[in-house]
Amino acid sequence: GVVLQCDGLAKTYAEGRLETPVFKDLDLSVREGETVAILGASGAGKSTLLHLLGGLDTPTSGEVHVAGQRMSGLSDAERGRLRNRALGFVYQFHHLLPEFTALENVMMPVLLGGMDVPEAETRARHLLEGVGLGHRLDHKPGELSGGERQRAAVARALVNRPACVLGDEPTGNLDEKTAATVFELMLSLNREQRTSLVLVTHDRRLARRLDRVLELHEGRLRELLPDEV
Ligand code: ADP
Ligand code: ADP
Repeated sequence: GVVLQCDGLAKTYAEGRLETPVFKDLDLSVREGETVAILGASGAGKSTLLHLLGGLDTPTSGEVHVAGQRMSGLSDAERGRLRNRALGFVYQFHHLLPEFTALENVMMPVLLGGMDVPEAETRARHLLEGVGLGHRLDHKPGELSGGERQRAAVARALVNRPACVLGDEPTGNLDEKTAATVFELMLSLNREQRTSLVLVTHDRRLARRLDRVLELHEGRLRELLPDEV
């Protein structure tokens, strides 16, 4: 099935009298298990698009469907629940909570979703072991390396078994080797769990590894042919 879909998506930020649309009419459909890269220059609107897909911001017009549900038809609480259930988020900076351990950080989304503590802990522990952090469960973010923090953030994004992970430069803050490791980790989770990936990236070499590469340019989303990437 289709996990993420948008039709006629438009976004204009109201800035006084100057109202230039970031984009006016974007269509995108992401299937179950599909991996999609979004390229584009700085300011092209990649973060804006990702925020709209993730229900963190509302479009000026057009619709976003997540797991078959129309976002704009939901209350804030319902949208929050759908986001927590169906989507995972990974950013350039990890956004882990500094006072909590890696294990607690990864448990948080499932606890918020209503799972009881022992089950949440088991699931979080397995995921952290899966991303190679079995020996770092009780470490706080400040006690982890950049790559370890980002792997913990990936584990947290996946703990609810989302249909789709949205990544905004998820490896952008890491050195090349660590970036490659975290990227491979996301690809292996895609293969094992059929989690769709939509990744904003500047890195064409990484983008090339995904099923489809789209470029956002002057308000349009264009699919690049393999030899254009
Ligand atoms: P990208 O992620 O591709 O760098 P963004 O989505 O961050 O691009 O930004 C797209 C355009 O929208 C830019 O011109 C940016 O200045 C503008 N923009 C982004 N966020 C806001 C905001 N909250 N208010 C006003 N303009 C914004
Ligand atoms: P930027 O978007 O400026 O590149 P970051 O890379 O630090 O900044 O990403 C942080 C983003 O997280 C913010 O832009 C914000 O829109 C988004 N955000 C806000 N609230 C939430 C939330 N509850 N869950 C996930 N992301 C959120």
